[in-house]
Amino acid sequence: MKKMKSSTLRALCMLVILVIIAIGYFTKVGIGNLSGLGWDVFSVLCPLGYLESLLASKTFVPRALISFLAIVAVVIVLGRVFCAWICPMPFMQKILPGFGSKKEGAPASDKPCASSEACGSACTACKPNKFKLDSRHGVLLGALGSAAVFGFPVFCLICPVGLTFATVYLVMRLFAFGETTWTVIVVPLLLVLEVVFLRKWCSKICPLGALMSLISGANTTLRPTIDDSKCLHATKGIECQVCARSCPQNINIRKPELSPVSLNNCTKCRECAECCPAHAIGFPLLPKKQAGKPADGGEALIKTDQAN
Ligand code: SF4
Ligand code: SF4
Ligand code: SF4
Repeated sequence: MKKMKSSTLRALCMLVILVIIAIGYFTKVGIGNLSGLGWDVFSVLCPLGYLESLLASKTFVPRALISFLAIVAVVIVLGRVFCAWICPMPFMQKILPGFGSKKEGAPASDKPCASSEACGSACTACKPNKFKLDSRHGVLLGALGSAAVFGFPVFCLICPVGLTFATVYLVMRLFAFGETTWTVIVVPLLLVLEVVFLRKWCSKICPLGALMSLISGANTTLRPTIDDSKCLHATKGIECQVCARSCPQNINIRKPELSPVSLNNCTKCRECAECCPAHAIGFPLLPKKQAGKPADGGEALIKTDQAN
C-alpha cells in the first residue's frame, strides 16, 4: 500500500483537531480550544498565553502552572511538533495566496566556510549555537512586556492560532444558535489579512514559535538524524543538499551550525526524510552519540556506523 505523504497526514491531523474543537463548541461539552484544550478542570494552556496571563494578572494559579509545565514537558520530548502537526497557520498559508510568499533565504551551504581556517575564533558562524536569537524572540519579549504593562495579554488579540479557533467558535455559534455579532466578520478578516500579508509570520514574528524553540533546546529525542552509511554526501561526496533545500525551517541537518536557525526550530515535519533520495534520515527515539566526539548538546546527531 502506498504510504501517505506527511504533508497530507499533517493536514489531516490539523483538521481532526479543528473538528474535535468545533464539535466541542457545538455540543457545549467543554472540550475547549487550542488555548485551553482539555476536559473540565483538566486543560492544557497555550504556554505563551499562560505566561502573558501570569504577568498581566500577577496572580499565581497552581493548576495553570501544572498545565504550563505539562506543555513544557511535551515540547522537551517532541520539540516544536505543534507547529507542523497542529497549528493551522502553515496549512492556511498553503491554501491562501500571499504577498511576498517567497521562501526566505537560501538553505545553508554544506561547504565549510572559506575563511574558517584563517579566522581563528573571530567568526561565530561555525560555532554550534543552540539558541540563535532572532526577531521572534524580540516579539516574545514585547508580548510578555506588554502583558505586564497593560495588565492584559495584548498579543493574544492578534495571534493567528487564537484567531483561527475564535473563527471556528464564532462560525459554529452563528450556524448553531444564530448569534450574529461584528466579531464574526472582524476576527476571520484579521486572520485572512495576517495569512495573506504576513507570510513570514512563523519565521520572523511568532513569539509562540520562539518560546517553543527556546524550550526545544532541551529536546534530544526524535531529532532528525542522518545515517552516514546511506547519505550520498557522506558516501560519494555528492553535493546533494536535498534535505537542506526541502526544510521549511531552513535547517541544514548535515551542518546545523551553518543554518540560519538552530535545530531547535525543527518541527518534526518529516519533509527532509521524505525528500532524501537515499532514505538516510530517521527520527530515532533516543539520540545517538557521534563516536570520538563529545555529544554536541542537542545539535544534529550523525550516525557513524558508516562503512570506512
Ligand atoms: S511559528 Fe507560530 S504560527 Fe507558525 S506554526 Fe508555529 S505556532 Fe503556528
Ligand atoms: S538529502 Fe539525504 S543523501 Fe542528500 S545530503 Fe541530505 S541526508 Fe544526504
Ligand atoms: S529538519 Fe526535517 S523534520 Fe525538521 S523542520 Fe526541517 S524538514 Fe522538517
